[in-house]
Amino acid sequence: MIYDLLIVGGGLVGYSLALAAKDLGLSIAIVDAQDPRAEPGIVSETRAIGLSYGSCRILEKLTVWQKLETEAAKIQSVHISLQKRFGVALIEAKEQGLPFLGANVDLNGLQTILAQAVLQEKSIDVYAPYQASDYVRNKDLNQLILKKGEEEQKITARLLIAADGSDSVLRKVSGIESRVWDYQQMALVTELCFNRALEGRAYERFTAQGLMAILPLGAKRASFICSTDTPKIKAWQNKDPVSFLADLQSIWGYRLGRIETMGACSTYPLRRIEALELYRPGFLLMGNAAQTLHPVAAQGFNLALRNVMVLTEVLKWALDHDRDYSEESVLKEYVERQKADRRKISAFTHFLVQRFSETRNLGLNWQTLSLCGLEWLPGAKSALARLGLGGAQKALWI
Ligand SMILES: Cc1cc2nc3c(=O)[nH]c(=O)nc-3n(C[C@H](O)[C@H](O)[C@H](O)COP(=O)(O)OP(=O)(O)OC[C@H]3O[C@@H](n4cnc5c(N)ncnc54)[C@H](O)[C@@H]3O)c2cc1C
Repeated sequence: MIYDLLIVGGGLVGYSLALAAKDLGLSIAIVDAQDPRAEPGIVSETRAIGLSYGSCRILEKLTVWQKLETEAAKIQSVHISLQKRFGVALIEAKEQGLPFLGANVDLNGLQTILAQAVLQEKSIDVYAPYQASDYVRNKDLNQLILKKGEEEQKITARLLIAADGSDSVLRKVSGIESRVWDYQQMALVTELCFNRALEGRAYERFTAQGLMAILPLGAKRASFICSTDTPKIKAWQNKDPVSFLADLQSIWGYRLGRIETMGACSTYPLRRIEALELYRPGFLLMGNAAQTLHPVAAQGFNLALRNVMVLTEVLKWALDHDRDYSEESVLKEYVERQKADRRKISAFTHFLVQRFSETRNLGLNWQTLSLCGLEWLPGAKSALARLGLGGAQKALWI
């Protein structure tokens, strides 16, 4: 069997792409190292993920949001502040003309809903658990080599999509180079419980202890993320829960109420990885394999989901015009159409990391000025909201 579309990587991006492309009339297969049938709802990561308003609309189109909405914590406003400094900015849904700015959802729950939706699709074959190790291009076809222990299997496809994450094996074997910025930073993520509800307000605070965000998860629960230099994260990690909560409370004050309990902590090394090219004949990089971003602006999946929709539109256009959708000019069209969005979001995220995570420079007023400018300059908040909330690119599906 020759598949029209073969996706390697059943993460958020690979599954979203399979669902977005399912009505194109193509034969589709997806490969993942973990089996979603054997491990339904496996808790691989316990963090939450912030979805932009645009992403919620895309997931609605994929009939995923309908299953997520009751559990999703909708964000009505974002409060951005500097610890012990003048300067606050408040971005509100009302002001942006939106019913809500975005939503915070459980990553594992989203992954499970996407996987289940793919498993229910008769037109999508799932190969899992299989490790993709290489591919060979021959006469306009790709032969993908899969391994499961000693067993080896080959699958042939016209268009091969690598959505196999930051350390993409397929990116390496395709010979596509990438640029890596090691921020020498980590993110620490945990769940907090407050004595009162956050009422749809997310908080970001630039502090000497790191760049912190508290994002509502539901009633009195919130996810907490702190990103900063690795030794500072290790210091946070080594605190006992009582001193962790006491230090956090002194940084945030009581505006959000009393922080009562915390969950287990997970940490993530932070890098920016940018593939220098995105395609080869019959081969394309998507998601973290194409670009991995620092989570400061919560944009990695949001950007990738818009890319998924752009690719689906381009493939549809090629099919409607009897074009070979795997040919270079079609892949180039996709790359051109998502270029500005990718460039803006990557640059915006990198800028935030460079400028605002210079915590040792908190004494300087640069950041204060930025926040005041954001609050007072006409259009500045809307521009930030457009960048951050999924409207960086006007699109038909939003
Ligand atoms: C701390 C943190 C917070 C974040 N918060 C946000 C946020 O709020 N909003 C947001 O938009 N983004 C956020 N992100 C980014 C977001 O999580 C990623 O952009 C997104 O998960 C990338 O998905 P992916 O499918 O491209 O890659 P992955 O999730 O890495 O999935 C890759 C998949 O490929 C499979 N795979 C890998 N290699 C192989 C192989 N050789 N063969 C077969 N299968 C293979 C893996 O099993 C996996 O299932 C955050 C990231 C971090 C680290």
